[in-house]
Amino acid sequence: MQEQAFFHQGDRVGVLTTQPLDRVLDYRAPEGGCHLGAYVEVPLGPRRVLGVIWGPGAGDFDSAKLRPVNRVLDVAPMRDEMRQFLAKSADYTLTPLPAMLRLATRAPGLSDPVSMRKVLRPTGQMPDRMTDARERVLSAVAEYGGLAFTAKELADLAGVTTSVVKGLVKQGALREEDAPRDLPYPRLDPDLPGKTLTDDQAAAAATLGEGVASGRYGTTLLKGVTGSGKTEVYLEAVAATLRAGRQALVLLPEIALTAEFLKRVEQRFGATPAEWHSGATMTERRRVWRMVGQGKAQLVIGARSALFLPYQNLGLIIVDEEHDTSYKQDEGVCYNARDMAVLRAAMCSAQVVLASATPSLETWANAEAGKYSRLDLTSRFGASVLPEMRAIDMRAEKLPASTWISPTLKQAMTARMERGEQSLLFLNRRGFAPVTICRACGGHVTCDHCNSRMVEHRFMKRLMCHQCGETKPVPDACPTCQVEGKMAPVGPGIERLGEETAALFPEARIAVLSSDLFASARALKQRIEEIAAGEADIILGTQLVAKGHNFPLLTLVGVIDADLGLQGSDLRAAERTFQLMRQVAGRAGRADRPGEALMQTFQPEHPVIRAILSGDEEAFWKAEAAERHAAGVPPYGRMAGIILSGPDLPAVMDLGLTLARNDMPLRQIGAQVFGPAPAPIARIRGRHRVRLLVKADKGTPLQDAIARWIGPIRLKADLRLSVDIDPQNFF
Ligand code: ADP
Ligand code: ZN
Repeated sequence: MQEQAFFHQGDRVGVLTTQPLDRVLDYRAPEGGCHLGAYVEVPLGPRRVLGVIWGPGAGDFDSAKLRPVNRVLDVAPMRDEMRQFLAKSADYTLTPLPAMLRLATRAPGLSDPVSMRKVLRPTGQMPDRMTDARERVLSAVAEYGGLAFTAKELADLAGVTTSVVKGLVKQGALREEDAPRDLPYPRLDPDLPGKTLTDDQAAAAATLGEGVASGRYGTTLLKGVTGSGKTEVYLEAVAATLRAGRQALVLLPEIALTAEFLKRVEQRFGATPAEWHSGATMTERRRVWRMVGQGKAQLVIGARSALFLPYQNLGLIIVDEEHDTSYKQDEGVCYNARDMAVLRAAMCSAQVVLASATPSLETWANAEAGKYSRLDLTSRFGASVLPEMRAIDMRAEKLPASTWISPTLKQAMTARMERGEQSLLFLNRRGFAPVTICRACGGHVTCDHCNSRMVEHRFMKRLMCHQCGETKPVPDACPTCQVEGKMAPVGPGIERLGEETAALFPEARIAVLSSDLFASARALKQRIEEIAAGEADIILGTQLVAKGHNFPLLTLVGVIDADLGLQGSDLRAAERTFQLMRQVAGRAGRADRPGEALMQTFQPEHPVIRAILSGDEEAFWKAEAAERHAAGVPPYGRMAGIILSGPDLPAVMDLGLTLARNDMPLRQIGAQVFGPAPAPIARIRGRHRVRLLVKADKGTPLQDAIARWIGPIRLKADLRLSVDIDPQNFF
């Protein structure tokens, strides 16, 4: 463990707390003293709050009034590099440091002393009377094997009340035991035999291994089509990291993917690693945080916030599917986990691997510029080949009204049915229909709290707002003109496509995969496994299916509306469509049967569609890069979004105008401000939203200028201002 500066009892120390204060507060070091970086509990007014010893005290506070730190928590002190990382990421994202510290301490019960807790274990004895609820509890226990849960956790897992669980204890089916709260993770063995790599793969793995062995910082783009073995290759980099005695982190974009992934890790290293995501239980989160901090978790598989865990010796960060938009958090602390991973690695001399079949233009450009290394895996593993991609020109197809499957696509699906193969129809729209329109007046139903159209979910028999989640029944009478019986769904959603498919293929087993149709991530995972095992003929999916699932029997992908992503003003629309279509197409023909991808489009001559079909990726990126370059937008220029919101539109607009008028700090660096203008979604949850967009040249000190620009603004109580550096979503 590294030598940390030490403060003796009574020394003046500066403590950063998790409270929204704009400065570090002075305290006295407690009895026994404390290290720089120690996690502590300090008095703040009448409360006790969590903090970290950030440095010596500033000394400008009356020493007679200084209060001592209450106590030092029983966890390893924060390392220097972590403090630097938090400070730098706070500067980069223009986030107050306390908010960064909150991100880094998001584990329950951190300030509890290490202690024992009451857990429940099955005794093997059955209760006198079995009920549904009891059965659920016992099967949850069985599913998690040796893991122990508290009564509350078990009740949550099984979706029952704690009294059901307590009933089972009384009945003798569960037994209470004392268990240490946090157990170390089993050791992973990097030297178990891995798969025999192809020459391509072995060369890439060796290069990554050298990077790890160098003990220096470096970022590598690992590019290869889906199925080319990127995962196999980067698992070897993980092995090299473990051999070097350092910790590794694998970031994944989707929790739904972790089950399959964990199985692979277990096969490779002989034990399961630590898992960090919002779906993990409180106990699990706490255990991960503590064990990572003690260096007793060698490998973490996690969502983006796993970057903020207290690694003792982080040597490698993998960002899988690095182009995935879910790495960007655009509420609260706005950060892009991909970029923060690079920053984190630079602070602790670690390697970063950005893996993708369709990298973001940012990453592609960094590789072109030589800032990142690049490794390419060019062929799919084994016999599998990339599917043949073709456009279906919808202008030439004859479809009955309110149907979306063209005769050409139907024919291809029929052929698959006859061969016992699977087809996948992709439509990136949840619900039954995207809009519900009144046939009398043309009005549509909008959310009462947000200015967004409500989407019919027939499965729930309600309309739903995709912004705030509000639902209401489909109205009988039009809310605008009051005419009855004229409300009609317009356009396809995944549920409606399900009805059409069932009508066309009455004998087919149809599976609809949309995140809102599953009660839990677990239920979804299970369904995916069933489908992979062949328990469906036709799969209908939203964005969810574009990601890494492996369906060996799948040989046809039909994209219902390839033009969907090309609409709208998003500067990344072309890039996203390109990535999504290639990812979706990559679902077909993964095993030994060749696949085919058919894209329904009304504009087959559109450059993006042509680039997707031609498969000439480098050409697409070069063209896209040239366009962005000319427009001076990321990654060749810098942008920041400022979102102002409040219940009263004139007040929000006024604030926007004030900001736009006082743009001197921005003009000094040659940056421009656009707006204020109502945001594309002008109202969310009753709050009006106004946005400003700042554009600057690459290499200008944008954050510094924005800090000086918004610094003097004092927000009235109900107004909010948030800054989004490099915004990805313009909503
Ligand atoms: P990617 O991450 O690029 O999509 P994967 O690493 O998941 O690719 O590989 C795709 C499939 O091929 C997986 O089932 C994987 O186990 C298998 N595979 C890849 N390379 C090899 C290899 N060298 N030997 C055996 N199986 C391999
Ligand atoms: Zn709403």
